Amino acid sequence: MCLVAVSKFHPAEAIMEAYAAGQRFFGENRPQELMAKAKVLPGDIKWHFIGHLQTNKLKMVLPYAAMVESVDSVHLLEAIDKWGVENGRVIDVLLELHIAAEETKQGFSQEEILPLLSRQWMGVRLRGLMGMATNTDDESQIRADFKKISDFKQLINRDFPDLEGFDQLSIGMSGDWPIALEYGATIVRVGTAIFGERVY
Ligand SMILES: *Cc1c(COP(=O)(O)O)cnc(C)c1O
Repeated sequence: MCLVAVSKFHPAEAIMEAYAAGQRFFGENRPQELMAKAKVLPGDIKWHFIGHLQTNKLKMVLPYAAMVESVDSVHLLEAIDKWGVENGRVIDVLLELHIAAEETKQGFSQEEILPLLSRQWMGVRLRGLMGMATNTDDESQIRADFKKISDFKQLINRDFPDLEGFDQLSIGMSGDWPIALEYGATIVRVGTAIFGERVY
């Protein structure tokens, strides 16, 4: 299991404190902020991009990120693939599945993801799924959301046996990561519980 410490809105000093304690995976959701931090912080940090990514900002993220967890459109996936080919890289990505009851959260539907899985990609490697549960205290809703994404990943692994390396499930945040582990999370993204409240 991989713990991504979500350091968005927190200063480099906070990251260095966690780094000194051995943490190496950090998550950021704004391209400019990720780039600025990556340039000054230790090179062995693995940055995960977890926010909405516009294709005109790829240059700020892809040179530095070990993984883009939040791919939420075909257009974005194709643009990352193209960047990877042009730059001689293969970028690890997760496809973000919309699982929350709220309309507002971004992400693919299951029907949108399926056709992407049998396409040939040269500049990206599809590593799995990412999802955000409904923002609620209702644990049964959170469990239903996590079950949906966990079941869908199992279906993909069964129906697309040639899809190599599709083994990651990124679910769980500060409020719900223990539940996410019960549903097979391989990555949890925890911010507030590590760094405290964010000041926007
Ligand atoms: C901010 C953020 C997190 C971390 O949220 P916390 O509740 O602070 O743990 C996780 N995932 C995504 C996509 C985020 O934007």
